[in-house]
Amino acid sequence: MDLPNSLHARDIAHVLHPYTNLSLHRTEGPLIIERGDGIHVVDDQGNRYIEAMSGLFCASLGFSEQRLVEAAVRQMSALPFYHSFGHKSNQPVVELAERLLAMAPVPMSKVFFANSGSEANDTAVKLVWYYHNAIGKPDKKKIISRIKAYHGVTVATASLTGLPNNHRDFDLPIARILHTDCPGYYRFGRPGESEEEFATRCAQSLEDLILREGPDTVGAFIAEPVMVSGGCIVPPATYFAKVQAVLKKYDVLLIADEVICGFGRTGNMFGSETFGLEPDMMTMAKQLSAAYQPISALMVNARIFEAMVAESEKIGTFGHGFTYSGHPVAAAVALETLKIYEERDILGHVRAIAPRFQAALRRLGEHPLVGEARGVGLVGTLELVQDKQTRENFPPAMAVAAQAGKLAQAHGVITRGMGDNFNLCPPLIITERELDDLMVRVERTLDDTARWLDASAHR
Ligand code: PMP
Repeated sequence: MDLPNSLHARDIAHVLHPYTNLSLHRTEGPLIIERGDGIHVVDDQGNRYIEAMSGLFCASLGFSEQRLVEAAVRQMSALPFYHSFGHKSNQPVVELAERLLAMAPVPMSKVFFANSGSEANDTAVKLVWYYHNAIGKPDKKKIISRIKAYHGVTVATASLTGLPNNHRDFDLPIARILHTDCPGYYRFGRPGESEEEFATRCAQSLEDLILREGPDTVGAFIAEPVMVSGGCIVPPATYFAKVQAVLKKYDVLLIADEVICGFGRTGNMFGSETFGLEPDMMTMAKQLSAAYQPISALMVNARIFEAMVAESEKIGTFGHGFTYSGHPVAAAVALETLKIYEERDILGHVRAIAPRFQAALRRLGEHPLVGEARGVGLVGTLELVQDKQTRENFPPAMAVAAQAGKLAQAHGVITRGMGDNFNLCPPLIITERELDDLMVRVERTLDDTARWLDASAHR
């Protein structure tokens, strides 16, 4: 492990890791994953882990789905690459677009392909601007996101992201990106305020912001149905109805970020169905291809597309697109993924197993370290607190959730402590037995974390 030529040492010497404590990495080094089977992955020492995060909320079908491998190989042999610029197309792209439009929870007109969630959301930002120029409202360009939102890491999407770590030192956010309240009742609800009243206050606060800025300057609002990375924040039941009434009143477009929620995670095909969103644009990625190939998509409705076509009549080419927009191999793998979801009734499976997961999660909510257990479908979090009564979190420097994530590895579980949250987002194919096993391991991890806190005299 410590030999200078080990993979471990070479990683430290050469790889700049995304989302990693760079200083800590010099001493800790990487966990090297070699292979996977089902919901498990195996490291280079032969240790086997339940991948309780589906990687990064994406490996919905686990790590050994041969049909996806074969779909990739077939397409690689037939046509390993072609692009969609300048009127070119290919079969997997056409079929994938058709299939996605047929699945859309509200009528959508066209699908634009990209490679990552960030690129899809970045494209949405550009289309908000393009659309409003096209319809002769060049001032209606501000985009409202929410505190604690996660929408990506490009310059524009990191600006939409409402987490300090994505702004600090990066000189973000850029102009014309605003943030309104986070609908997390546990953290932001006031004493004595019902969830319904809290939802009303969030919608009122959005309206106040729009009025303050001037409705003619606000073009769009972007929201993830459940704010997963921000701490699995499930909005109050009436939140999106109230918010959408405000958006309609001021003619503000709604962008639904389905990058994590899309394709069954919340118990419906899209989180927009679970929470009643009627978006003008929808972005998706991750489970679109079960993560076997990088691909993302953006759907736009007819109102937006027709305005874009009219603009094209005036100015010519629509000047946006990625080299790999509609990569045929990625599209073929995504298409096969969607076929598997349908043939194996993955949605039915999620609906059947989600109550068991949510009940087990709520039971862990009783643990002394857990302030609130929350989630929906097959995603959930345990928010760690040092005082259940006052709901006070641990000091960020203690990185308790990250420590819990590390302790989980000793119990054969990979998860990701993010902020104060111990997140769980297992592959959608997890069985009842595997789920029960996972939750036992999580409970032991919480006990270990409590012991670690006591031993290090942190409380
Ligand atoms: N939107 C949401 C809701 C996400 O969770 C993520 C990534 N976790 C993104 C966008 C960005 O996706 P990517 O990392 O593929 O750029």
